[in-house]
Amino acid sequence: MTNIIGIDLGTTNSLCAVFQNGQPRLIPNALGQLLTPSVVGILESGEVLVGAAAKELAVTSPETCVARFKQWMGSDRKVTLRNRELTPVELSSFVLRSLKEDAERFLNGQVAEAVITVPAYFNDGQRRATKMAGSLAGLKVRRIINEPTAAALTYGFHDKKAEKQLVVLDLGGGTFDVTLMEVFDGSLEIVATAGENFLGGEEFTDRLAAELCKRIGLPFEQAELTQPLMIARLRQNCELAKRTLADSDQVVVRVPNKDGSAGSESAEVQISRHEFARLSQPLLDRLQRPIHKVLRDANLTPEQVDEVILVGGATRMPVLQQFVSEQLACQPRCELNPDQVVALGAAVQAALIQDDAAVEDMVMTDVCPHTLGVEVVKELGGQLRDGYYTPIIHRNTTIPVSKEQTLFTVHPNQTVVNIAVYQGESRRVAENVRLGQVSVNNVPLGPAGQPIVIRFTYDVNGILEVEAFMQDSKERFVTVISTDHSMTDEELEEAQRRMQAFKFYPRDDIRNRHLLHYAEQTVGEVNPLFRDQLESAVDHFETAMSAGDPEIFDTARTNLLSCLASLGFPFDQA
Ligand code: AMP
Repeated sequence: MTNIIGIDLGTTNSLCAVFQNGQPRLIPNALGQLLTPSVVGILESGEVLVGAAAKELAVTSPETCVARFKQWMGSDRKVTLRNRELTPVELSSFVLRSLKEDAERFLNGQVAEAVITVPAYFNDGQRRATKMAGSLAGLKVRRIINEPTAAALTYGFHDKKAEKQLVVLDLGGGTFDVTLMEVFDGSLEIVATAGENFLGGEEFTDRLAAELCKRIGLPFEQAELTQPLMIARLRQNCELAKRTLADSDQVVVRVPNKDGSAGSESAEVQISRHEFARLSQPLLDRLQRPIHKVLRDANLTPEQVDEVILVGGATRMPVLQQFVSEQLACQPRCELNPDQVVALGAAVQAALIQDDAAVEDMVMTDVCPHTLGVEVVKELGGQLRDGYYTPIIHRNTTIPVSKEQTLFTVHPNQTVVNIAVYQGESRRVAENVRLGQVSVNNVPLGPAGQPIVIRFTYDVNGILEVEAFMQDSKERFVTVISTDHSMTDEELEEAQRRMQAFKFYPRDDIRNRHLLHYAEQTVGEVNPLFRDQLESAVDHFETAMSAGDPEIFDTARTNLLSCLASLGFPFDQA
């Protein structure tokens, strides 16, 4: 049987897992780590760096790297790195390709298929974009599943006999999802889901960074534009401070200089956990809305929720855990690592697809997270007015689902009807998201009011197909909702060729790059008495990296490793 890997393609970090010997297992990357930062960099040579090495490069050369591009999936946004214009789909494909290569190394064989997770609240265009990123990485995407559903699958897999109403709260780097599900004897039924696409742990880091800038009299937004190096380093320091505040009451954060450097002369600001909680309050207020929406849709009170599961790195923040126990009146569960449950669940989903015996007693049903409908004309006060929205599939309908509705022509002798498809909850289309259009162009001449049937089919991947037809005609007009990301087969092949032409930075060199970066950072940390000794070892290693003599290289590497260890900064060679 071929291996289908499960991938959690995260805003900040991505992970990969596989179902083996009746268990989901995580796959380590080239550095032996389970989390691969979702960061892409392009080197001067044109080679692509993905993961920790790119994240490190982003601190010293932010203009050559990009992170957080998951937030732009489904949009037309592009970034230019070293004169190469890249879309979020292409950037995501680099991350997926890197994970695919890690899996191939780990499994010692080719990997061609994957289950990829997306935030429950991702819309149709974002899901398609994710699927496309998989194709560009050389992966056939067997299923797109919602991240909280994947998390629930992991818990469900370990707790098959349970019977309860549980809420999964997933706060990752850039998105927030809430999902309510019913668990009953191995069956997991998603009842309702809601979320926000631009609200995650990174916003908490930004609040901290903005506060520090304010304290030293620097407007944050302006500094983002004029001092990118300083902001990149400040964000890094704030990220660390945010994590430290999980265990400590106070933290001191160093504010870097304009050029991103930080020495004993740079400003230091003290932040308490209490102050961080105050800074976080506006973000916590925004988290409330989707939680209430889900409870309303499921017709439940907070007291009826039996259990809360926390997923996503940002749920480690005590301020978040406190907020959750206030909102849902029960202590959140987080005994499984919140960074890992989604990828593990994607591997469980892969096992379900492959009919693995270990999951034969599990059943899972999911829902459509958004209301889907079409634009209609209304007659109000004797006047025809356009721009109104009629839902066809209501949010939180169990999927797969197919629903029909009959609409009518509005003008006499109207031979063409263009039906615009939208997603959203507003009564007016202008406030919803336009997904595409289907046109019926065989309407026979006649009076207004001729019936046209619209059929919406929403599949298990959360992808929508719309059909429109005259009731008595055999001719069907179908559109798989098109966005700018749909491509013809030729266009796809061309895009795959273009992506494959990007060479990845050699896998083994990534470890050395990582060591070099670690050693460089350590130079500024060691006791000044030993700085020269370390710097000389680093110089030798850097020279040896490009010299091409394996013997000299091995000696320089061993020398640097032992120098670091002897100074009390051993390099983790996992
Ligand atoms: P994810 O996308 O699930 O990997 O979540 C990444 C987010 O979790 C980032 O915003 C991190 O800053 C945040 N995060 C990870 N670990 C911690 C921690 N110990 N304390 C606070 N935030 C964390």
